[in-house]
Parts: sequence; structure tokens; C-alpha cells
Amino acid sequence: MKNLSILGSTGSIGVSTLELVAAHPDRFRIEALTAGANLELFARQIELFRPRVVSVLNEELACKLSRMLSGVGPKPEIMHGVLGLIAAATATDTRMVVAAIVGAAGLVPTAAAIRSGKDVALANKETLVCAGSLIMDLVRDHGVALYPVDSEHSAVFQSIEGHRSEDIRKIILTASGGPFLDTPSALLENVTIADALNHPKWSMGKKISIDSATMMNKGLEVIEARWLFDVPAAKIDVNIHPQSIIHSMVEYIDGCVIAQLGTPDMKAPIAYALSYPERVATGVTPLDLTLLSGLTFFKPDLQKFRCLQLAYDALECGPSMPAVMNAANEVAVAAFLAGEIGFTAIPRVIEGTMAAHGAVSLVTIEDVLQADRWGRRKAAELMGKLKGEP
Ligand code: NAD
Ligand code: MG
Repeated sequence: MKNLSILGSTGSIGVSTLELVAAHPDRFRIEALTAGANLELFARQIELFRPRVVSVLNEELACKLSRMLSGVGPKPEIMHGVLGLIAAATATDTRMVVAAIVGAAGLVPTAAAIRSGKDVALANKETLVCAGSLIMDLVRDHGVALYPVDSEHSAVFQSIEGHRSEDIRKIILTASGGPFLDTPSALLENVTIADALNHPKWSMGKKISIDSATMMNKGLEVIEARWLFDVPAAKIDVNIHPQSIIHSMVEYIDGCVIAQLGTPDMKAPIAYALSYPERVATGVTPLDLTLLSGLTFFKPDLQKFRCLQLAYDALECGPSMPAVMNAANEVAVAAFLAGEIGFTAIPRVIEGTMAAHGAVSLVTIEDVLQADRWGRRKAAELMGKLKGEP
């Protein structure tokens, strides 16, 4: 029996993870759950999975949740804020933490989980984007395992098993291209929030859906792959593959390419992270290759999808730049989702923020948080100018 803490259980990844847990009660037990503000769903999850520790965003929500759970016995310990996230991530009986919060908010609890010796199933790619080098050091120092949940990284993980890293010629991350793959650049300016959220292949949380539309998601994944697999950016390519059947591949020095294929459904990579090295039933529709009309691949347009280029630039620039880029992206995406800026302003805000940043070295997680705060402030300032404010 593996005891799990799920950080972000009410999100897209969190809900899929709990469906897998419900399907395998003989394998997994829930020790702790955390959520943001969706108390209705969270209360139902708590009744069903009976965690010992739960946490929500703030004290007010914690009080409300406590009232909602008054008829539920035994009641879990209800916490809130960053301390609540850390308590869930470090709960004594937890063996694995599923890091499924969105954004840089996932960094501190994920680092706490590693420090307390927990294995981590990592969906929260922003953790590695902001603090890749520090997190991988922590993973080594504490002897824990870090399993990728992101479908591309799960594919790479499955394609490099048993191979020597020096034999890798390159990692090829595939990308669906998002909802605007065939939209001319000139029309991107006027796309709506609904257009941008309408991903052709995956159903996901709002932030990652917008990241997919700008292709920043692929940029974040290039940085994530750099740290997870210890491969330099020059050896990480991106191919657009609109069918999303090959989830990524690894090319070796002998010319052989190993790829992982499957129906696009996050339950497959989540399950592999939870049950590694075993495999468990997921309910994912099996792939029928005879029904596919063809698999296509081509290079991304880095002019049109500027965010992908910015991510390569941030990685090359180094230490604090990826955290600053990520912070600016979070601020810009939130503003786009709030209807405050247009779609094409997103890369402009990020680029302006990066241009204003002098990269500094990152020695501690607090240094990363400082870079994150700096990036948020600068991006907000630039957006103020964009909106014609002082
Ligand atoms: P989501 O928005 O659906 O869910 C996010 C969860 O985190 C929710 O439970 C929310 O309440 C919680 N949360 C948000 N902000 C928080 C904060 N500040 N403090 C505490 N809790 C907070 O997001 P998602 O689509 O499930 O994505 C989660 C992570 O997984 C992201 O980093 C994303 O990039 C990554 N990911 C998602 C998918 C996918 O298919 N959804 C695929 C690959 C990677
Ligand atoms: Mg992905």
C-alpha cells in the first residue's frame, strides 16, 4: 500500500489522480489532500478518500471547510496557506507526493517533500523551470525519486530506461501546436479567451491551456527536460505533431529512435509515476494504429510562437532568468484570462521583463522566490504601461 499526498487535488491532474486511486484501493491510500478554493469538490473528495490532513488557500476557507465537514467523522486536520501545503507534503505516513499545484506556488511544498524524504510525482513543471538545478541537487542529496507526470517527460523517461545518458543524441519533445497552429500570425491579436482555452487534444487547467496556445508550455517543458534528464538545451528539440500520439522520443548516437505512443490521456503518465516500475490498468482507450490516417511532424514557427524561443533564451541565459520568465508568464496569463490584455501581449510582457532582468545566481530556494517576486513586479509594471497607466 502506497500512501499519497496530493497537492492540488481539485485540479485537472488532481482529479485524474484520485480516479486512479479509487480504481486501485489495494495499492494506494490518501494521506493528505490540498486544494485552492473549490470547497464543494474538495469536501466531496475528503468524504470519499478520508485523508488525515487537508489544506486550503487561506484561513477563511479553512473555517468554511470545517463547517462543511461538521457531519463527517473522523474529521481531518484542516490547515491553510503555505504551512498547510508543507504539512501535507511532509505528512509522516506519506510515501509519495503528487505535486499537482499550478505555478510557482508549487515550488516550496515540493522542495519540502523532497527534504523530508518523499518520492515525488511531478506535474508542477514550474518547480523545475524556476529551480531546476537546486531541486535536482535536493533529489540527489535526499536519495528520493522524482517521477515525471508531464506526458512528454513520461515518454522520455520510458524511452531512456536501460540506456546510458552519453548515448543520447537528442531528446525530441512533441507538441500538438495548440488551438492556433493553423491561425495566421496576423489574426492572433484578436483571439478570444474561449478560443485560447479550446485545446484540440487535451482537457487541462486554464493556465496550462493558455500556455499551450502560446506554446510557452513547450518552452517550460524544454527547461523541465533539461533538468530531469540532465541534457543540455542544444540536445532538446521540439517537433509539432498535431495528432498527439507520439508523446516524445529519444534519438541515440547509433541513429535509433525510441518513442512512446498512446491515446492522449493524462491517466497513463500519472499511473506510471504512481506505480513505477510496475504498470496498472488505467482505463485509457487502447491505441488502434489502423484507425490513424497518418502521423505528421514539423518544426515549430518560432516567430509566431515567440514564447518557445523566449524559453530557450532564458535557459541559455541561466540561473535566475527562467524563474523571472515563468513569473512574467504567470502574471501575463492571469491578466489575459481576466480580459485585461490581449493574447499577443503575453510574449511582449515576458520579453520586456526578461530584457530588464540582470540574471543572478541561485543558491537557495529563497533566492528563487526573490527572482519570482521580482519578475512578478516587473511584469505588472510593464502591463500597467501597456494599459496606458502610469
Ligand atoms: P488546475 O488549475 O486544473 O489545478 C491546479 C490545482 O492547484 C487546483 O487544485 C488548485 O486549487 C490548486 N492551486 C492553484 N493555485 C494554488 C495556490 N496558489 N496554492 C495552493 N493551491 C493552488 O491545473 P492542472 O491543469 O491540473 O495543472 C497542474 C500542474 O500540472 C501545472 O503545473 C501544469 O503545468 C501541470 N500539467 C498539467 C497537465 C494537464 O493535463 N492538466 C499536463 C501536464 C502537466
Ligand atoms: Mg506536457
